[in-house]
Amino acid sequence: MTDRLKLRILQLYPDDMNIYGDRGNLLALDRRLRQHGFEPEIINHNVGDKFNKDVDIIIGGGGQDSGQEKIQEDLKYISNKLKILAENGTPMLVICGMYQLFGNQFITSQSKTIEGIGILNIETIAGNERLIGNIKITSDKFGDIIGYENHSGQTYLGENTEPLGYVTLGEGNNLHDKSEGALYKNIIGTYLHGSLLPKNPRITDFLIQQAAINRYGKFIPAEINDGLIEKARVSAMSRPR
Ligand code: GLN
Repeated sequence: MTDRLKLRILQLYPDDMNIYGDRGNLLALDRRLRQHGFEPEIINHNVGDKFNKDVDIIIGGGGQDSGQEKIQEDLKYISNKLKILAENGTPMLVICGMYQLFGNQFITSQSKTIEGIGILNIETIAGNERLIGNIKITSDKFGDIIGYENHSGQTYLGENTEPLGYVTLGEGNNLHDKSEGALYKNIIGTYLHGSLLPKNPRITDFLIQQAAINRYGKFIPAEINDGLIEKARVSAMSRPR
């Protein structure tokens, strides 16, 4: 028997949307939850599964255009439930392909429109070149964030949509405005694979803090020695594009 408080992570479409190390986000979240004294439970939602809305943190990874096409119907089907959770402050982290589909739409290089669910007021249109490489951004909320991007979609933020940060190395949302990602309520959308969370524990802690406050009304963080993570960050930050 454990008297640890439970927090439930929902992973969206791991069968089709989970590339460039995005699974590391789940592993980092699981470990950090344990370090903060929680008992994590992981639930996967794949196409055709019954949606469980009793969840505390939602994460979703990147995927190829084909993966996005595969999940779009199911995502639309569960979108009202996701919207309610989003509006109620459930923390969510959506990467690349899933970030695009949390927006209004993604127009592929074949001029196909993949409809998004409009939780984030963003639009994405495939460009002629892929934006690939190590990326560093700076964010008011999380400081320096490090990752790896690989996408052809270029994303533009709509009205009242805040970026996650601004690019200091790499491209980010598009080739024009140096913005990267989007922030809305407790939802973080970003192009940063890498994996993101193992190298950016401030984001992991943000997700956990919001989840704990929503479920239990408070968050008492443990003191965690981030020495190794700091070393990994220094090394990742010195990498060329
Ligand atoms: N298919 C999308 C693009 O290339 C997303 C890619 C990804 O998730 N890495 O824009």
